[in-house]
Amino acid sequence: GPPAHVTARVAPLSSRLVLALVEDRTRERRVEAIRRDFVANVSHELKTPVGALTLLAEAVEDAADDPEAVTRFAGRMQTESARLNRLVQQIIELSRLQGDDPLDDPQPVDVDKVVVRAIDQSAIDAQSRRIDVVQDGERGLEILGNVDEVALALGNLVSNAVAYSPDGSTVVVSARPDATRVDLSVTDQGIGIPADEIDRIFERFYRVDPARHRSTGGTGLGLSIVKHVAASHGGDVRVWSVEGQGSTFTLELPRRTTGSPAAAGPDIPE
Ligand code: ADP
Repeated sequence: GPPAHVTARVAPLSSRLVLALVEDRTRERRVEAIRRDFVANVSHELKTPVGALTLLAEAVEDAADDPEAVTRFAGRMQTESARLNRLVQQIIELSRLQGDDPLDDPQPVDVDKVVVRAIDQSAIDAQSRRIDVVQDGERGLEILGNVDEVALALGNLVSNAVAYSPDGSTVVVSARPDATRVDLSVTDQGIGIPADEIDRIFERFYRVDPARHRSTGGTGLGLSIVKHVAASHGGDVRVWSVEGQGSTFTLELPRRTTGSPAAAGPDIPE
């Protein structure tokens, strides 16, 4: 039943209000539990690279008269600090997005530009592994949202597609409209996701058996950021995957057409 203080406070109110208050308290508690969980996970995840850096710094000190070892340890320190950097950056992004509140002020977003931006973010990784990232689908579409959030989310999907694909394969980023939304999908020919894990990959810090990945660079936060961006846009994200064959992630966002509310006002200059 409802906690005592709620009952006492709402006694004179209508039953509708009582229910609203109890629901509010339940939601507050759930949000609080999620926050506590997140902080615990963050502490745990930060301890790994920080611990490694501490050990490596000690090792460098001990290896002072072995230049080869110093170089090796320094290289690993760079890897660990890059990982720490990525982690901190994604934690900041995620905490900004948390809450799934609708966007304050959605704006027209040029889909073609956002796709190019997302592809560019992974260009160096893709090139070094001869992975071809191509743009496909319809051009000239617009969505209603926040250009930086959409670029971030789509960028995360492209970066995953590249990370979990074999050298020399192809990744396709395509935009397809229907009456009310635009589907932005990223298709790879990569390792795919086991069916029994597919429901979990959007959880914060969740990674499918990291041992099967070529790199240990992931944080497990990329897809939870995508999920929050979809939610704040009133959209959704879906995944289709066959293990060993590849995956398609689709970000569904509200389409901006000439009839959309934001089209009524004057156009925002770019
Ligand atoms: P990470 O930083 O580990 O990539 P994400 O939240 O972006 O974190 O993804 C969670 C997990 O989902 C990844 O660790 C990986 O196991 C799996 N995954 C995500 N995208 C793909 C993909 N395109 N192909 C195969 N597995 C993927």
